[in-house]
Amino acid sequence: MDIAVIGAGYVGLTTAACLAELGHKVACADSDMAKLQLLRNGHMPFFEPYLDGIVRRNHAAGRLEFVTTEEAVGYRVIFICVGTPPLENGEADLSSVDSVARTVARRADGYRLVIEKSTVPVQTGHQLQKHLELYSTNHLQCEVASNPEFLREGSAVEDFFHPDRIVVGVDSAMAAAQVQEIYEPILKHAFECPVHGLTCDRRRTVPIIVTDVNSAELIKHASNSFLAMKISFINLVADLCEAAGGDIAKVAEGIGWDRRIGHAFLRPGIGFGGSCFPKDLQAFVRVAGKFGCDFSLFEEVERVNARRVDLFMQKITKELWVLRGKTVGVWGLAYKPDTDDVRCAPALEMIRRLLAGGARIQAYDPQAMDKARVQLPDVTYCRDPYEAAESASAILALTEWEEFHSINWERVRGLVQRPLIFDARNMFSREKLTSGGFQYVGIGVASDVKVLEAVGSIA
Ligand code: NAD
Repeated sequence: MDIAVIGAGYVGLTTAACLAELGHKVACADSDMAKLQLLRNGHMPFFEPYLDGIVRRNHAAGRLEFVTTEEAVGYRVIFICVGTPPLENGEADLSSVDSVARTVARRADGYRLVIEKSTVPVQTGHQLQKHLELYSTNHLQCEVASNPEFLREGSAVEDFFHPDRIVVGVDSAMAAAQVQEIYEPILKHAFECPVHGLTCDRRRTVPIIVTDVNSAELIKHASNSFLAMKISFINLVADLCEAAGGDIAKVAEGIGWDRRIGHAFLRPGIGFGGSCFPKDLQAFVRVAGKFGCDFSLFEEVERVNARRVDLFMQKITKELWVLRGKTVGVWGLAYKPDTDDVRCAPALEMIRRLLAGGARIQAYDPQAMDKARVQLPDVTYCRDPYEAAESASAILALTEWEEFHSINWERVRGLVQRPLIFDARNMFSREKLTSGGFQYVGIGVASDVKVLEAVGSIA
């Protein structure tokens, strides 16, 4: 099929390149001309495992081209993958979606299937349909479908080829058939997996949920809000473990074996970040409010999340006492591993507070330093985790990169001023580090002192 994908970000570029890999002819558009030029010259605008090769291969083969939005509207099928960031009041900013819709309406003629892949509030599809018709000047005959995206940055390519499900919101059987045709190779496993190659053993039936447009939009917001709720839930339980005595790792394991709950997203930490969960949760609350529904449950999820950095900062200041003049090593800046995305990254918020307190920050991240530098120019960016540890009064491990699992602790011990590790992701072994001479502060394990204090107060 000939397909246009508008928006060449994490979602759009992945979608465009992977659709081309499936054999479609794809035009990927963006309003950012510098980004388009970068892509045309064979460079990637961001880091995403495996994507680079897929983009290059399909660009070279002529199946993937980079065009302007005006050029993209000539295609019969148009995916909208532009950003939907939060407005001041938490609602989704749909101005990019609207701008694309007006370009399509003004320039396209004949039949178009416009598929919203950007995450949008319920009823956006209906608004899109209405505005495409209102602005149409060339006898446009348009159908709108919703095909929300569930890929995770860091495993976006793998998620594209092996999705847990494909959701299609449509108003007509014809639109449903077209979207299904696009994904047919995935549904029938008729492709060579670019991640695992011929040995790929992930062939399983991919459920396809065909529904109305509103329901498809709701599925996306509800999914992200549910996952965010799971994270805030386990973080609250972690706090009680610390206060009353308990080990959150064991508690989470015990909870997760219940098949109704599952183990995923039961890792405590400094809260969820990134470009999706915080904004989608807010947008879900705002849209529910507009329809008179009380979503205070999710407002609480947001509040719990907002406190995570505060609570971790309290642990840091309790141990370090005065921040001014102290050097703190930071391992990890991205909001999660395997991405260079620092949008709403808790690590950046933590660093801002440490800098405000007068600490000197030496940071290392395998991929995210260029993007972090734009927001935090006053940080010293290091070549590796060891350089970040030099003369540090503490090391903060803030993103769980695989690379940090093979740290040479003896070497670190020789570099730091004080062997103190704050593990915001519970990624290291407390036993190993304490026996190696480090003081270890993680999340969700009671310190003996605290437990005794609590027991004393009950008595
Ligand atoms: P992004 O910021 O990486 O990319 C958005 C792109 O759209 C940018 O390159 C921008 O220049 C372009 N753009 C903005 N306005 C435009 C316009 N009018 N015309 C053409 N291009 C325009 O965003 P993203 O992370 O790819 O997210 C895109 C959408 O997908 C959002 O709604 C997001 O919530 C959703 N989503 C994101 C993820 C994720 O993990 N990033 C996962 C699922 C869904």
